[in-house]
Amino acid sequence: MKIAIVGAGIVGVTTAYELARDGHEVTVFDQRSAAAEEASFATAGLLAPLLLSPWALPGYGLPLRVLGAQATVRLSGGLDRRNLAWLWRWRTAGKQHSAPAATLERLAQYSQARVQAIASQHELDCEASTGRLVLLRSEQELATVQPALQVLRDLGVAAHEIDAAAARVIEPGLSPEAALAGAIHLPGAGAGNCRLFAQLLRQGTQGSGVRFAFNSRIERLHGAPVGVQVQGDAEPRRFDAVVLCAGMASAALLPALGLRLPMTALYGYSVSAPVREDTHAPRASVVDLGQQISITRLGQRVRIAGGAEMAGASAEHHAPTLQRLYRTLNDWFPGGAQLSSGLQVWRGARTMLPDGAPVLGASGVPGLWLNTGHGAGGWALASGSARVLADLIAQRTPEVPLDGLGMRRF
Ligand SMILES: Cc1cc2nc3c(=O)[nH]c(=O)nc-3n(C[C@H](O)[C@H](O)[C@H](O)COP(=O)(O)OP(=O)(O)OC[C@H]3O[C@@H](n4cnc5c(N)ncnc54)[C@H](O)[C@@H]3O)c2cc1C
Repeated sequence: MKIAIVGAGIVGVTTAYELARDGHEVTVFDQRSAAAEEASFATAGLLAPLLLSPWALPGYGLPLRVLGAQATVRLSGGLDRRNLAWLWRWRTAGKQHSAPAATLERLAQYSQARVQAIASQHELDCEASTGRLVLLRSEQELATVQPALQVLRDLGVAAHEIDAAAARVIEPGLSPEAALAGAIHLPGAGAGNCRLFAQLLRQGTQGSGVRFAFNSRIERLHGAPVGVQVQGDAEPRRFDAVVLCAGMASAALLPALGLRLPMTALYGYSVSAPVREDTHAPRASVVDLGQQISITRLGQRVRIAGGAEMAGASAEHHAPTLQRLYRTLNDWFPGGAQLSSGLQVWRGARTMLPDGAPVLGASGVPGLWLNTGHGAGGWALASGSARVLADLIAQRTPEVPLDGLGMRRF
């Protein structure tokens, strides 16, 4: 089939890879001049398990608070009706534990196996590491992680409650002075550089059934027959199928076809810094549960990521949030990273649906497929979502169940 993909983020690039593997002729359109220039640019790098990652799913991390000193989401410019409705749905999903947690965790595990298989088959070095500690500062935090631990254990994912001394053996760079009540050790957890993987995969797929059309903004999607309208073109370009992987723009492109997604952008930050002292830096990844901040080793750099704000795409960097990232890094790994120069500071959008899960599968418009809204887990879910979508297009049963991930839930 002749298939168009809208978006060359991690989701679009992995989708292109899987579709080309199935023998399709694929064109990927992106408005930017390279792959992974938007949300996939400088993610924390966390792969599976998904459930204990910051902002993964409502009901499986910190409760949502928008007011006061304990606020977990920063609202800039006040609370408008749209944000309020979205926050309400997220909070309700959290209270009812209605997010499709087991389905997503299975998809994340499947996805991690795909990343590893693809990296090994094509010899892609994406600065991967294995193992994660979820750092807990109190007994109360241990209680917060119990619902997620239950799902992981039911799925057979290794997750061990360990004390502070055992955590310091696994990550010897952890400060002896930091107040650590204990940790969850996830020995099979993966991490890696999302953008690097996307770019290496793009280079690998180009020429093997995939054409990348950069600097090509899709203005409109067409149905019956399905196609895309590229900015500057007089006529739509027709395809046998179109897959929408446009991140935050997906929600804006769908209404022309009578479809709507309650997507919102929850902005976060990452800071990447050169390793200063190897023995003081993390070996793999850690998550500070209380701060919803992750610290990941990516080759010769350390990346710290966190923050959650509802603000415009062009909002200024929020200095107190960035200071919180630096402070958290210094709390856990003092001297591990060089913060005086060579820093990359990034602000990006988590494109979130109110149950934290992506929309994956048929759209209801013949020929239009959706693979979008991966929220805080786009890197963790991309390769699995891509394989599953390719299977659906080929009318094969995917290897993992997709209950609760369809468009119909909205
Ligand atoms: C601080 C932070 C940390 C994160 N950490 C992690 C993590 O550790 N693990 C994890 O799994 N996830 C993480 N995420 C989430 C992850 O970044 C996203 O889920 C993922 O990058 C989404 O990928 P995507 O391909 O859907 O979107 P994008 O990467 O945004 O790609 C969409 C593409 O569509 C293109 N596009 C948009 N509109 C059009 C148009 N009209 N025409 C043509 N092209 C268009 C854009 O240019 C873009 O290239 C993090 C996010 C943030 C903000």
